[in-house]
Amino acid sequence: MDSARTPTPPSDDVRTAAPGSRALATEAVHAGRDDLARQGLHAPPIDLSTTYPSYDSRGEAARIDAFAATGADPDGPPVYGRLGNPTVARFETALARLEGTEAAVAFASGMAALSAVLLVRASAGLRHVVAVRPLYGCSDHLLTAGLLGSEVTWTDPAGIADALRPDTGLVIVESPANPTLAEVDLRAVAHACGSVPLLVDNTFATPVLQRPAEHGARLVLHSATKYLGGHGDVLAGVVACDEEFAGRLRQVRFATGGVLHPLAGYLLLRGLSTLPVRVRAASANAAELVARLAADPRVARVHYPRIGGAMVSFEVHGDPHDVISRVRLVTPAVSLGSVDTLIQHPASISHRIVDADDRRGAGVSDRLLRLSVGLEDVEDLWADLDAALGEWTETVPARQVLSGTG
Ligand SMILES: *Cc1c(COP(=O)(O)O)cnc(C)c1O
Repeated sequence: MDSARTPTPPSDDVRTAAPGSRALATEAVHAGRDDLARQGLHAPPIDLSTTYPSYDSRGEAARIDAFAATGADPDGPPVYGRLGNPTVARFETALARLEGTEAAVAFASGMAALSAVLLVRASAGLRHVVAVRPLYGCSDHLLTAGLLGSEVTWTDPAGIADALRPDTGLVIVESPANPTLAEVDLRAVAHACGSVPLLVDNTFATPVLQRPAEHGARLVLHSATKYLGGHGDVLAGVVACDEEFAGRLRQVRFATGGVLHPLAGYLLLRGLSTLPVRVRAASANAAELVARLAADPRVARVHYPRIGGAMVSFEVHGDPHDVISRVRLVTPAVSLGSVDTLIQHPASISHRIVDADDRRGAGVSDRLLRLSVGLEDVEDLWADLDAALGEWTETVPARQVLSGTG
């Protein structure tokens, strides 16, 4: 961009350095806003237009031909809201900067984003997908049910190379994975993929903790509903990738209509500006809760990824449904990545749609609870969790009942 500073050398410290000349925290508040001062603005404008006036229909024809050929964002003024929107484009520019990719394409939800990726590959005749469990429950379901005509082979990271076929169009991993927080070695996985595009769902890590493109992922997917938006009031998805793949995604978005609303684009850009601060503060809370949960006799096992973050999963000796029913400050709700703390029982909600054997086989135990740690004071959070975990003596019979039902 327009910084006079010398480029930051490549660094393994993804917590502080961003690709290009500016640090991640700086990009978070400035990317996607470079033209504002020239326009005499400080806050980004929200463009709600669905269509745009043009007195030059020959020019429009040429611009639409160019879009049909490459999917590149049309030069000049927008044409129609389904083709592109300037407010949404600001968010896309900013997210691409944070992930260190050439481009990003936003969608109406994380699932719309994943669907568009699958359609891009299927339209090239590459319907076979190799994927590693666990994935977010609905991603698993979309692949397993073959809703978009894809065929999936589930494997572990070590089995990826052997699972590839001539018609394999995509390899999908989540790291840390929803809900077990299992991690994969992204560099090793990218190597195993060879020329097949690797999609990493980076929803849990966010670009603050991990930038998969630096490790060889061609596609970085987010449910922007979670940390990128960060306040539980926007449903959105985005894929960060190279310009060539972005062009295909824009063409699919144009043809299938899963566009992001401009107001959502505005809120996401605003959300990105506090992303590094939110992720670091929530992660500090999470690390403290992990220490307390791990030392607690009512807790059988705590899952927390090596890269850190604000997601914690834990298995209780007692009945997890009791814990859900007893929280008062923490909200018992699906979703994650908001400023406030949420807890849910994956086997009942986020991963309910996955076949029970597949779910358990992927390490999603019936006793697992998933906590999305927010920005509250950690002592207040612990007081609520401590009360929700209940008396140790109460939990013993429940433990026996649960082990009896597997
Ligand atoms: C929530 C989620 C999705 C789906 O995103 P939506 O915005 O709900 O469509 C995909 N991947 C992960 C890891 C998620 O947590």
